[in-house]
Amino acid sequence: MFNVNVDISKCTGCEECSNICPQEVFKMTDSKSDPYKAADCVGCMSCVEACPEQIITVTEM
Ligand code: SF4
Ligand code: SF4
Repeated sequence: MFNVNVDISKCTGCEECSNICPQEVFKMTDSKSDPYKAADCVGCMSCVEACPEQIITVTEM
């Protein structure tokens, strides 16, 4: 299991994270990224690498 966190105060809503995630963990809520299916995260780190703002953290629980 992984914990997926987004610092939404800095999110630009670019959707890079939702576009790249193989598990469809993210949805956009009010133009901010919401990792609503974090329970499905496999820890690939693609979103962490893709986010231009570097505001996503993925940590093993
Ligand atoms: S680490 Fe991989 S599976 Fe997990 S939320 Fe990011 S892109 Fe999706
Ligand atoms: S990639 Fe980063 S800035 Fe873009 S929507 Fe996702 S969390 Fe927000």
